[in-house]
Amino acid sequence: MRDLRHHREALALNTATLGHRSPIEAVIDKCAAHGFGAIAPWRRDLEGRRLADVAARIRDRGLTVTGYCRSTYFTHASHAERQAAIDDNARAIDEAAAIGAASFVLVVGGVPDGMHDIAAARQQAIDGVGALLERARTVGVALAIEPIHPMGAAGRSVVNTLAQALDWCDALDPERQGGLGLMVDAYHVWWDPDLEAGIARACRDGRVLGYHVSDWLRDTRDLVTDRGMMGDGVIDLRRIRGLLEAAGYRGPVEVEIFSATDWWVRPEDEVLEFCMSRLLDVC
Ligand code: ZN
Repeated sequence: MRDLRHHREALALNTATLGHRSPIEAVIDKCAAHGFGAIAPWRRDLEGRRLADVAARIRDRGLTVTGYCRSTYFTHASHAERQAAIDDNARAIDEAAAIGAASFVLVVGGVPDGMHDIAAARQQAIDGVGALLERARTVGVALAIEPIHPMGAAGRSVVNTLAQALDWCDALDPERQGGLGLMVDAYHVWWDPDLEAGIARACRDGRVLGYHVSDWLRDTRDLVTDRGMMGDGVIDLRRIRGLLEAAGYRGPVEVEIFSATDWWVRPEDEVLEFCMSRLLDVC
C-alpha cells in the first residue's frame, strides 16, 4: 500500500467538507497550504466566477482537480424534466472541462414523486447517463457514477452497489472505450458483503475514477449530513484502500465529509488539520 506521506498528489479535498462557507479562492489556498495535492469543487462554489480564473488559481497552487460535483438528478416523472436534467448536466460537463476536472460525479436521483416503479427510475438514470457519454468523451471528462447507500434509493440515487453501477457501465460502454466509471465512496459501500469482489471487478475493468473517504458514525443522526471524520466511526478505511490498491488503484484519496452540526461549524483550519492527519493515520 502507498505511504500517502509521499504522495501529496493523492491527498484530495472535496470542498463540501468545509461546508461551502468561504469563497472558492480561499478554499483553494487553504487546501494547498494544508498539504493537499488535489481538490474537488462543487458547482455552487463556482457560481458567478470566471472558470478560467478558478482553473488558473488551482494550477498556480499546485493542485489538480479530481471530480466536479455533482450531477442534477436524472430521474423525473416527465420527459421534459428529464431532458432539462440532461441539458443541465451537459453544461456541468463543460464546466468540469473548463476547470480541468478528471471526472464529473453523478448522483443519479431516486424514485420521482408520484412514481412507485424503481425499475423505471433506474432505466431513466441509465438513459440519462448514456445521453451524456459522447459529450463527456469529446471534452475529456469521465463520467463517475457514484453508488449511494441503499437508504438513499428513494430520495437520491437508485444505483446502490458497486456491482449494479458496474453493470450499468457494461451496458453503456460494452467495448470499454473509456470515459465512464465509478466514484467509490467508502461511506456508501462499506457495508456491502460483496465489497471485495466489487472493487476487484471495478479495478480490473479500469472503472475506478476516484475514492471518497469519511466515516459512518455508529449513532448517526442524519443519513446525508452527519458523516464522521475518518477514524471516528465503524468503517475499516485502511482495509478498503488496501483492497483498491491491491487491485491496482493509484488515484486520489479524497476527504468528503457532510457534517452540519459538527465539522461544518468548526474553524476551517482545524477541520483541514484533522482531515490531513486522519488521512495519513487511518485511511
Ligand atoms: Zn462521495
